[in-house]
Order: sequence, then C-alpha cells, then structure tokens
Amino acid sequence: MVIGIDLDGVVCDFIGSLLRMEGREELQGGQQDYYFPHKGDCAVYTEEQFMKAWDEFNAQHGFIGIKMISGAFDGIEELLKKKFEIVFITDRKKESFRDTWYWMRLMGWYDKIPVVFSDGQKVERVLHSNIDILVDDSLEILKGVYEEYEMNFKTALPVCFNQTWNSQLNLTIPRFYDWEALIEFIVNYRARKNEGC
Ligand SMILES: [Mg+2]
Repeated sequence: MVIGIDLDGVVCDFIGSLLRMEGREELQGGQQDYYFPHKGDCAVYTEEQFMKAWDEFNAQHGFIGIKMISGAFDGIEELLKKKFEIVFITDRKKESFRDTWYWMRLMGWYDKIPVVFSDGQKVERVLHSNIDILVDDSLEILKGVYEEYEMNFKTALPVCFNQTWNSQLNLTIPRFYDWEALIEFIVNYRARKNEGC
C-alpha cells in the first residue's frame, strides 16, 4: 500500500518555524482568518510580507532548519517498519530542492522514501499515481483529490491533517489531529483492504 505524504504542514512545521524565527506566537484558534486569498494557505502575513519572511527564513535556516511536527518522525518510521511504501509529495519551490534532499539524508530517509516535487500540479500527480492514501493539510489539494475520489473511489483516499487553515474543510473525509491516530487509521485501512472490505 502506497501512502503519499505532504511535507509542510504534515511532517514539517513550516509556518510554525517561520513564526518562531520572527518571534511570533504560533497560530491560535481564531487566527484561521489569515489566508492567502490566492492559495488558501494560512499565514498571518499579506502575500508580500510572507514572501519577504520566507526569503529571510530560507537565507537563515533553509528548509533543513524546519522543525518536525510532533510524532511525524516516529510515525513515518513505523510505517516503514510495517512495510508501507511512502512517497513524499510536495509543492516546495525549486530553491528548496537541495535543502530537502540534504534533510532527507539527515533523517535517514534518502534511500527509503522518494520525493516528488509536484510543481503546482499535485492533484494531477496524485490522480495519476498509485497512491492509495494521500495525507495533506491543504484545502485546495484535499478538495481536488476528493472530487475524483467521490466519483469512482479508485483514486487515492484523501485524508486531512488538521491545521487551523483547513478547519473549514467540510468534506466527509477523515481528519487527524495527531500522528498516532493517523498511523492507527492507515494500519487499519490496509487490514480492511486485505480482508476485501
Ligand atoms: Mg502542506
């Protein structure tokens, strides 16, 4: 069984790391009104402010310095141990490719987990792949994959990793608040599939 996993917002705490660098608090409830209008992603910045902060963050930390989301490392290790195939699928920009590969080496995943840089085409890439479950935090991506899934159930099952910026997602797809619950779901999902359910 192939599990597609988004990086930022699911494995890596991109926004949190950016906010910490700026000495800001992490996002609290009620702050979900801060969005990039064009992308549906979350920020406490305007787009211009965000790009400036992002450049600074990149210059100082790079994508190597982004903290992990709690439970993500152990969760991924557990999936590998249980012989799941994992694919990281990310819309990170070109400038971050080198850092991402370096980070993959640091994590010990370089030879174990392929990384797909989907270049803004994530939904299409997922729909034309053999991914069984896609874990993502982006409203836009989850909606896109769900539309297809709802039609024929043959594409990847989208599951939502909870973040403030996806709280208004009202699709009937599973939502997970931590990695422990996510892993339990994935393991049970495979067991059910193997039993032909
Ligand atoms: Mg994401």
